[in-house]
Amino acid sequence: ASRPFHPDNTTIEILGHVVGGDEPTIIAGPCSVESKEGLIEIAQAIKASGAHMLRGGAFKPRSSPYSFQGLGEEGLKYLAAAREATGLAVVSEIMEPGLVDLVIDYVDVLQIGARNMQNYALLKAVGKTNRPVLLKRGFSNTIEEWLMSAEYILSEGNPNVILCERGIRTFETYTRNTLDLNAIPVVQHLSHLPVLVDPSHGIGHSRYVTAMARAGVAAGAAGVIVEVHKKPEEAWSDGNQTITLEEFDRLAKQVRDTHRLV
Ligand code: PEP
Ligand code: MN
Repeated sequence: ASRPFHPDNTTIEILGHVVGGDEPTIIAGPCSVESKEGLIEIAQAIKASGAHMLRGGAFKPRSSPYSFQGLGEEGLKYLAAAREATGLAVVSEIMEPGLVDLVIDYVDVLQIGARNMQNYALLKAVGKTNRPVLLKRGFSNTIEEWLMSAEYILSEGNPNVILCERGIRTFETYTRNTLDLNAIPVVQHLSHLPVLVDPSHGIGHSRYVTAMARAGVAAGAAGVIVEVHKKPEEAWSDGNQTITLEEFDRLAKQVRDTHRLV
């Protein structure tokens, strides 16, 4: 993952869009995949606002075992249907090595969540594929540990790793996490891999998400991944930090404008 080994920036082409290229990457969608119709409606709206990819969890890492755990394969099918309807690439989280063969049939980008950043068996399993991997930083992990996790994927032969800063735990409790903007220029100095920001998990309150999306891109991020829903207050998970389709339209414009200045 280190610069000296690979001086040029890595770029990753996904359905015609280049992550780490001239345009900022914009990924949006619900925290969890819910209904098929609802997902397609979100996908159509975000596409019209300029998104490149649709996100949505089918396997959800919930703090409580009694919370909604995701629709599983059914959710993957809805993602594939939304991809079919809109042409957007789809991004979804994978939590176990044994599910790689299943998930890879449906999604364009395999997301490794913060809680699994050091699930080494999982990292090795996705490293044995050549599918792009979105590797989120663990909320209590150092930059060094994060890059070592990327190394697990790269060293198995998969060069297509996209890093994602999604906020770390600090003493502050007003916000859900603290988006570590410092990590963006640091990672870009240390590594050739593209890095995105996730302001939704990074701050945890919808009203502040757009400001932190701009800040992430101003710090040099290659793009953003944000949680969006037609009715955030009815979302099955992470509704507090989820923005509306109208708010997303403004966010996407501001991300593009900010990226032009960097
Ligand atoms: C998510 O993207 O919905 C998610 C669970 O993210 P994280 O792993 O960053 O908490
Ligand atoms: Mn979420």
